[in-house]
Amino acid sequence: MAQLQRVVVSPAQIQDGTITLEKTQSHYLQRVLRLKVGDRFIAMDGQGQTWLAKIGETVATIIEPVAVDSELPHWVTLAIALPKGSGFDEVVRQVSELGVARIVPIISERTLLQPNAKKQARWQKIAAEAAEQSERSIVPLIAEPIQWKKYLQSEPSCGQRFLCWERGDSPALLDALPQAAVELAIGPEGGWTTAEVEAAVAVGYQPVSLGKRILRAVTAAVAVMAIVAAAQERCTATGQQ
Ligand code: SAM
Repeated sequence: MAQLQRVVVSPAQIQDGTITLEKTQSHYLQRVLRLKVGDRFIAMDGQGQTWLAKIGETVATIIEPVAVDSELPHWVTLAIALPKGSGFDEVVRQVSELGVARIVPIISERTLLQPNAKKQARWQKIAAEAAEQSERSIVPLIAEPIQWKKYLQSEPSCGQRFLCWERGDSPALLDALPQAAVELAIGPEGGWTTAEVEAAVAVGYQPVSLGKRILRAVTAAVAVMAIVAAAQERCTATGQQ
């Protein structure tokens, strides 16, 4: 199929085969991209359903469902300690492009940023833009920011758990990865404290290394997601287990 603009729509926007676009979406499609009535685009609900649609006078019309096969074979959750400044915007955009399913912003002992509700909405919007751009069928979910200790106590595991830790003599992430859902944690610029590492290990996290160099927190998040995506897709392509 030719390259068509993708737009994430909510279930409330879809009714009887039509899509009521939001003002900003209409503006973007018709004013910025200069699409005309009758031109086609891809609408996606961000939860796996995607349709070919066309622009109408007042509403858009769904033409037919479209099969999209761009998701990783196994669910990936990233718990990431919030870096300072706008570093998390960058992280959300890049790991969303690489296929993450869920991002949990973590407040650790050495986290400097104090997140607010506006920030979470902003990150969710960035994740949607990244999903559109990278032609995914799901939009990664951004969880509410949570204290690391609380997260360890409250959250059930979303797969085998790995803690990225630059100290110690940990195995390489690539060698430790299973062909299954995984959950990975990345620390803040100042690193995890020893108590935080011990608390994670106590609930089943395995410390892993990303190599001999110390990466910035933002770089580490992108490296982790690239390693996991490459490992999952290599095995899918070659049929390895
Ligand atoms: N200030 C810390 C230090 O010097 O030990 C470095 C923290 S690093 C900038 C931020 C986070 O990225 C770490 O908490 C860890 O989760 C991850 N990270 C960076 N480099 C890593 C590596 N080589 N192996 C595993 N994790 C790494």
